[in-house]
Formats: sequence, C-alpha cells, structure tokens
Amino acid sequence: MTRSQCTILSLVLASAYAGCGAPPPEDDVTLIQDAVTGNIVISGRVTNSSGSGLSNVTVTLAGSASTSQQTTATGAYSFGALASGSYSVRPTRTNCAFSPTVANLNNLNSSATRNFVGSGSGCAAGGTGGSGGTGGSGGTVTPITRKYMTIIYNPIIESQGNARLITLQGWNNPDTMTTQFVADMAQASNNLAVYVAGPRVEIDAFPVKEDGFQYTDATYLTCLEASRQIPFDRTKCHKPDQADGFGYAANYLTILNSNNNICARFNAGEFDELWMFGAPFMGFWESNQAGTQAVDTNGPPVVGSTCQGRLNIFGFAYNAGEVNMLHNYGHRIDRGLKSMLPNPSVMDEFMREELHNPGQAQCGITHYTPTSTFEYDYNNTRNVTSSCADWLNYPNRTGATATINCSAWGCDERGYHIWRARHLPHVAGVAANGNSNNWWTYILSR
Ligand SMILES: [Zn+2]
Repeated sequence: MTRSQCTILSLVLASAYAGCGAPPPEDDVTLIQDAVTGNIVISGRVTNSSGSGLSNVTVTLAGSASTSQQTTATGAYSFGALASGSYSVRPTRTNCAFSPTVANLNNLNSSATRNFVGSGSGCAAGGTGGSGGTGGSGGTVTPITRKYMTIIYNPIIESQGNARLITLQGWNNPDTMTTQFVADMAQASNNLAVYVAGPRVEIDAFPVKEDGFQYTDATYLTCLEASRQIPFDRTKCHKPDQADGFGYAANYLTILNSNNNICARFNAGEFDELWMFGAPFMGFWESNQAGTQAVDTNGPPVVGSTCQGRLNIFGFAYNAGEVNMLHNYGHRIDRGLKSMLPNPSVMDEFMREELHNPGQAQCGITHYTPTSTFEYDYNNTRNVTSSCADWLNYPNRTGATATINCSAWGCDERGYHIWRARHLPHVAGVAANGNSNNWWTYILSR
C-alpha cells in the first residue's frame, strides 16, 4: 500500500464535500525547518531487564527546570530546549523499581543521554501490567485519558454584521462535532481512549501561512466564493508557486508559539492533544505531530517547536462534519502505527484490502475498505474474503477468514472508521514480535 495521499484537509474543496478530494502530493508543501539552536536535550530510554521499552513511565525532570512526561511506546523520553544548569531525572511507576533511581546531571552544558532499567511486578512492558497473550482474555487493559485543547479559527466578519464565519456559512458547530467524535472514539477504541475537554480558544483571525501570508475577511471570502464557481479561478486564492492550485499550509510554528503558549502548556501537562478547527483554504494538515518524538501521521512533523515528547495535532474541518474527524483519526492510526510500532510490518497486514491485495483482505485502510473498488468507496456491497475478525484474537490469530461486505459496518464512512478501529489489537501483554498487544498505547502516546 502506498503512502496515503490524503494530506491537507479539504482546503480547496467546496463546503459540502466530506472526503479528501484530490489532495496535493505532500512534497508540494514545504516543511518547516527552523531548528532549535543552542539548546540542551536530556533523553534516553526506560526498559525492563530484557531491553523492552517501558511505556507510560512518568519521568520527572527537576533542578534548573521542572517538568515531567510519560515515556513513549518504545520507552523513550526526551526533555528538550533546556538551558545550561544542573538537573535530575527520575523515572517512577507503581510497583516498579529503577536502576539508577535518579540520574543527576550537574553543571550540564551539552546534551546527555541517561537510560534506566526497571524491575518489579509493575514493570511489564506495554504499560498495562497484564500478562496477556491469550487471545484477549489475559490481563486487563487500562483506559488512557487524554485531554484535548481546542482552537477554533472562526473569524468575526465585520462587513457582515459581525457574524462569525461558521454562522455566516451555515457550517457545523465544532463543539457539537466534538461531542459526537469523543463518543465515537470511545466506541472505536473499545473504551480505551477517554477524551476529556481541556482549554478552548476561539480565534478571530485566519491562520498565518508558511510564507507569512494571512487572509483578511475580504480576501478570504473572495477566494471562498471563487472556489464555488465552475471553473474555479484559483488566482482569487493565495497559492504562490502551487501549480496544482493548493495554497501553502498554515505555519504551525507560529500557531504553537502564539500567545496561547501551546508547547509550554503541553509540556506542563495541561493538555495532551491539540484539536484545531478550520475552514477550506486555512491550510491545516488532517493529522500531524509536533515535539521531540514527533513522527509522520500523514501530515509532516512540525520541526523546531519546544514541545517535548509527542503532541498530536488535528486540523478538523467544521465545513466537512464529524465523519471527517474520524477520517482524520484514521490517518493518524495508519501512519502513526507504521511509525511507532516496534515491529510495524504487522500494520501493513492489518490494512490490507481486496483491491490492492486480492484474496488477502484484512481490515482495510482509511481510504479503502476491505470491499472498496475505488478510493473513498465506503458502501461497496460486494462480498470479499476478509480476516479482519481474526484480529480480535490478537496476538493469537488463527488465520480464520469470513465472507464480508459493507453491511459489516453499516455501509457508510462513519461506521467503517469505527468498525475498523475496533479491530485494532487492544488487549494486555506484549506480542512475540515486541509490539504491545494494546496499540492504543502507541496511538495515544504523548
Ligand atoms: Zn484522507
């Protein structure tokens, strides 16, 4: 399966379209390359005695700066953007002892690596403490709570009686969308992803683009109106150097460094994920990450921020609706797991569908269900042989297959994304290939 081509959200699409349309090759959008300069990083891994990474270990930094974070799925931690000074690093987890107990780094003036080895009953890799490995019945899996910060770009249009853009265009209410989405994600994750509301900001402005351009009310409405005409006169929109008509992406560093102090607040644990809402042409990625542990989740990692660990970011489209939020999450699952699983090839297997892997369909990929005969084909009623149900036996799959068609998920896109995600491994323990049997520990890592 080639890399998903669904990239910048709906940004060139007319208002009602809920899919990804014909997105640009990702190479067309220039990566933000500003580097953090002159900063010290203290990083390392926390493992058990056999070298397996311990996730969800709290690592506390104290001394010249104080903060804490959870280790990632591979047991990694990283405190970045530190000034010269003296620090201590201490891992903690219930019923788990670490060697060394604490690492002291006095008068540090360059980056340092400190690793820790845990022992004790609470040190099972994967962070669940269960023994697992018996087809879903071994051990218990703890739900993971994640708080989201919401930023809604919803400019006040003074020329239209001070109406907000969403109201003026009759687009969807982001808060209503979020309520539905949080409920759908609980279902999709078998209640392992518990999302709770954090800070909420509504912004009376358009996001600054990578090249510094910022729409005004007038230039934006001109562009939006042009996009609804056939043919679409793309010169009415901001699209320098973009032969395919797509504008530049939003400048994520500008957003993170704004007076919302997003990285500092994320690093301090005030919230875990950033959920942005925007309209066509604002230039948000559907799903990407910032931070020292950022990986590709379809959109490119934000380079050069002061976020530590992994900040998951969504660019939701209030013009498109809640189903498109699930679509974005699908990309985060697909690309994120490919990047984060210690042994990612098994994710390729999970994503197989009949069109590209005849006779080997499993659970499908965000753009193709097991039965799709073309992209975004979520209601294809043809019968195919699929092993998707066998993933519920993970890590002890039997190879069993069944004949399915789209009625398995209700023959619509929303049902498909939920149905597919529910088949992701979500039991206790660690598989023989080193992957945690609960893939939500990767999907939700921060
Ligand atoms: Zn897509």
